[in-house]
Amino acid sequence: MLRSSDPDVYAAGDVASAFHPLLDRHIRVEHWANAKHAGPAAARAMLGQDVVFDRLPYFFTDQYDLGMEYTGYTEPDGYHQVVVRGDPDSGEFIAFWLTDRRVRAGMNVNIWDVTDDIARLVRAHRRRPRPARRPVHPSHRPVTDGSAAGARWENEGGHLRGISPAEGARVRVGRVYDERTPADGARVLVDRIWPRGLSKDRADLDEWCKKIAPSTQLRRWYGHDPALFEEFGRRYRAELDDPERAEALEHLREMARYRTVTLLTATKHPEISEAVVLADLLGTGNGAG
Ligand SMILES: Cc1cc2nc3c(=O)[nH]c(=O)nc-3n(C[C@H](O)[C@H](O)[C@H](O)COP(=O)(O)OP(=O)(O)OC[C@H]3O[C@@H](n4cnc5c(N)ncnc54)[C@H](O)[C@@H]3O)c2cc1C
Repeated sequence: MLRSSDPDVYAAGDVASAFHPLLDRHIRVEHWANAKHAGPAAARAMLGQDVVFDRLPYFFTDQYDLGMEYTGYTEPDGYHQVVVRGDPDSGEFIAFWLTDRRVRAGMNVNIWDVTDDIARLVRAHRRRPRPARRPVHPSHRPVTDGSAAGARWENEGGHLRGISPAEGARVRVGRVYDERTPADGARVLVDRIWPRGLSKDRADLDEWCKKIAPSTQLRRWYGHDPALFEEFGRRYRAELDDPERAEALEHLREMARYRTVTLLTATKHPEISEAVVLADLLGTGNGAG
C-alpha cells in the first residue's frame, strides 16, 4: 500500500506512481485531492494498518466561468465514446467517458454535488466477477454477548461471531463511539442520524453512508427491541431493494471487495442493528435466512 520497492520508503502525492486496485494498474495522479488523501493512507500503512488506497482519481478546476470536477480515470485514447448529459452551450453539463458502454470517468461542469454519484457509477462499472460465495447457513442469528466497548462481530458463513479487534475480517460491526483499531479497515457509519455528542474527528470515519440506513418509519417501529429484530431484518432487507439503498449496498460491497470494512452504528446494541443485517448481506452476498 503506497510502499515503494524499498520496504522502508512510502510514496504519496504527485511523486507516486501507485498501484490502484480498482483500475488494476499503476497510475500517477498529479492532483490536489490525491495528495491530500494518499498521505494519511501512506501514514496508516506505515503504522501497519490494513489500508487499501482505492479512491478514484478526482480533480477540480475553475477555468474562467466554468467550474469542473472530474472523477474516474481513462487514458487519452482509452475510451470509445463521450456521452454528454445537459447542454454544453448553457455551460451546465456532465460528460461521461465510456468504454464498452461502461463509464470510466465523468466530469461535471457548473453542476454540483454529483461527484459521489459519478464515483459510484464508475465503481459499479469497474466491478469484477464476484468470487465464489460461501454457503449460507439457514440461520442468521447474531451473537448477543459482545456489547462491551471495542467488541466486534464478523460474518462467518452466515453467523456473526464476536471477534477481538486484533483479528482480521472482511465485514465487521462495531459502535461508532469505539476508537479506531488497526483491524477496522474502512470505518463506515451506517446510521442516518449523526451520533449524539460525537465530533467528526473522534468518529474518525472513512465514510458516512447514510443513504443505506433504514427508513425513519422502520427505525421508529423497531426501537431496537430485541424481540423485533428478526422482523426488523426482514423489513430492512426489503427496504434495501429501493434503488438508492441498493446502490449504496453495492458501493459497500465493492468497498469490502478490497479491504476490511467495519460498519458502525451509534446504538448500544450493534448486534441487533441494521449494521448486522448489512454485514450478513455483505459477508455472504445473500440476505436469505
Ligand atoms: C499551477 C498549478 C495548478 C494546479 N491546479 C490544480 C487544480 O486546479 N486542481 C487540482 O486538483 N490540482 C491542481 N494542481 C496540482 C496540485 O497542486 C498537486 O497535485 C499537489 O499540490 C501535489 O501535492 P504534493 O504534496 O504531492 O506535492 P507538492 O505540493 O509539490 O509538495 C512537494 C513539496 O516537497 C518539497 N520538496 C521537493 N524536493 C524537496 C527536497 N529535496 N527536500 C525537501 N523538500 C522538497 C517542495 O518544495 C514541495 O513543497 C495544480 C498544480 C499546479 C503547479
